[in-house]
Amino acid sequence: MYDWLIVGAGFAGSVLAERLANERNERVLLIDRRNHIGGNAYDRYDENGLLIHQYGPHIFHTNSKQIFDYLSRFTEWRFYEHRVLAEVDGMLVPIPINLDTVNKLYGLNLTPEQLQDWFAARAEKPGEIRTSEDVVVSAVGRELYEKFFRGYTRKQWGLDPSELDKSVTSRVPTRTNRDDRYFNDEFQFMPKHGYTRMFEKMVSHPNIHVMTQTDYEDVRKTIPHRRVIYTGPIDEYFKFQFGRLPYRSLRFEHVTLDKSWHQPVGVVNYPQTQDYTRVTEYKHLTGQEHAKTALTYEYPSAEGDPYYPIPKAENQELFKKYERLALATPDVWFVGRLATYRYYNMDQIVGQALATFRRIGESVPVGADSLGVQVIRSKAALAS
Ligand code: FAD
Ligand code: UDP
Repeated sequence: MYDWLIVGAGFAGSVLAERLANERNERVLLIDRRNHIGGNAYDRYDENGLLIHQYGPHIFHTNSKQIFDYLSRFTEWRFYEHRVLAEVDGMLVPIPINLDTVNKLYGLNLTPEQLQDWFAARAEKPGEIRTSEDVVVSAVGRELYEKFFRGYTRKQWGLDPSELDKSVTSRVPTRTNRDDRYFNDEFQFMPKHGYTRMFEKMVSHPNIHVMTQTDYEDVRKTIPHRRVIYTGPIDEYFKFQFGRLPYRSLRFEHVTLDKSWHQPVGVVNYPQTQDYTRVTEYKHLTGQEHAKTALTYEYPSAEGDPYYPIPKAENQELFKKYERLALATPDVWFVGRLATYRYYNMDQIVGQALATFRRIGESVPVGADSLGVQVIRSKAALAS
């Protein structure tokens, strides 16, 4: 009899498997319907021996020393600060928009102070910042919004920024200095030998049994277990009984070129042209030395694997219906990006999983953890 059946071997499932096995000496069956562990962070060597990310570029960044230290048990790190260029009006310019972006695009020579005034003269102040359009238009004005954000967002989400929650474009800051890093976080590193190696180390424990190519449906009635941690889509768990939660999908086109380099930085975004949103060149991220180079083109799509929960009020309302069902489901914990229907980064999922583990240990009922994450607890656990 397993103490836990954990559905999904991504960050949420693997961190919890590791904690439960190592700290509580419990027996865990960790399953994934895919043929590998690591969830969307899975990376692999392609047929040319180039390390690529199967599900698009994953760059680790966090402000939490606790989360960084925890993952450091399973990997060494490679210092890497992510930089992105956007192809706008035929030029490659930094995104997030910064001093160099504006100077290059408009042939100006502004100082940071002058750029502040330049933005202020163009920014439109809506009464309340509610949507992803409001966020950008209120910071840099409509012209830059249209050049950098409107087209990209329509492509990525199939929605206009005015239809999306403000949290989406708020992920990308605006700067008046020359800082061209994509993220502001204190810790910005890549796992030195890749994510999959890190996951292998995390789940390598005599109490953890891993089964890939195994769906929850295949085992839930046949393999005895006491409790479940479910990290798949929450609407699927409940047989879509209130209707489907919308997720945005992507098609990844992986390409290898017979030359050393393709582009000057790890990612180039295409907000104005092309059907793909961005192109990733992995050697910038991984530091791998190789005569060839591997790229991924991302084509957004409504069909396919669920990659992005779509931040919109009506979707959140539908999620809340499923969340209520989850709360009333004994002995099942819902954790992770798909099960809690939130657009979380990897570090936030690690934080959510560690917080869930603490609650399992303390039998503490529902509550917000340090990241403000609402962790769903089972009825049985609430009663205990
Ligand atoms: P997942 O990684 O999705 O794992 C869930 C697993 O559950 C999957 O492997 C799935 O196969 C399995 N599963 C689902 N249902 C079942 C079932 N019924 N039976 C068996 N198995 C099941 N975050 C960052 O911090 N930095 C980035 O640069 C970054 N880039 C990203 C780029 C893209 C294109 C995407 C899509 C995401 C990116 N993220 C990034 C987010 C990151 O992928 C997630 O935060 C993280 O992987 C979520 O982990 P998880 O365990 O919740 O879910
Ligand atoms: N975005 C944009 N143009 C860009 C970069 C980002 O419009 O050049 C918007 C877009 O809506 C995107 C969101 O900002 O989905 C968040 O960007 P991020 O790079 O964080 O997306 P992710 O890496 O999660 O796909």
